[in-house]
Amino acid sequence: MYLKKMTLRGFKSFASSTALRFEPGITCVVGPNGSGKSNVVDALSWVMGEQGAKSLRGGKMEDVIFAGTSTRQALGRAEVSLTIDNSDGALPIDYTEVTIKRTMFRNGGSEYAINGDTCRLLDIQDLLSDSGIGREMHVIVGQGQLDTVLHAGPEERRGLIEEAAGILKHRKRKEKAIRK
Ligand code: ATP
Ligand code: MG
Repeated sequence: MYLKKMTLRGFKSFASSTALRFEPGITCVVGPNGSGKSNVVDALSWVMGEQGAKSLRGGKMEDVIFAGTSTRQALGRAEVSLTIDNSDGALPIDYTEVTIKRTMFRNGGSEYAINGDTCRLLDIQDLLSDSGIGREMHVIVGQGQLDTVLHAGPEERRGLIEEAAGILKHRKRKEKAIRK
């Protein structure tokens, strides 16, 4: 399984539709300060369901929508789609290629889709959680986060190990079931 392609439209500084293609192995994003490198990483966590504006380096969720420049009008929606190569079947779905898409409007609502079919955020989370990617998974390590991991207390460290071992998902489901 690997990330194959990401298309952004109206997301942060990517006003026009922009497609990024990735190959298996290491991809580096290079560019001058403020050119949008971190925005690419933000788009990755956003399309996988990130719900925290702060994690996306914004004040509110709508801040991910292109806000306009002196020469270009602000947009009404942000869209990101992410295509994952699933030839090895790592994702529990009967497709060799899976595209997840998230759209957000200025009024704050988000829509999600898997291979073109509208779905819930939960479906995206379920699809990704066993594969080791997705929201709240420590696969995206931001600047300064390495420090947090190194200085984590025993409880926090246990959480990280549980996540890596795939236990966290079941613990969360159990907690949810008990709450109901
Ligand atoms: P650095 O090398 O300094 O880390 P970077 O390449 O990571 O820079 P980003 O943080 O990805 O840069 O991009 C910052 C740019 O994105 C800023 O110019 C900012 O104005 C722009 N930006 C962020 N949100 C929006 C938005 N909603 N609409 C338009 N532009 C935005
Ligand atoms: Mg940056």
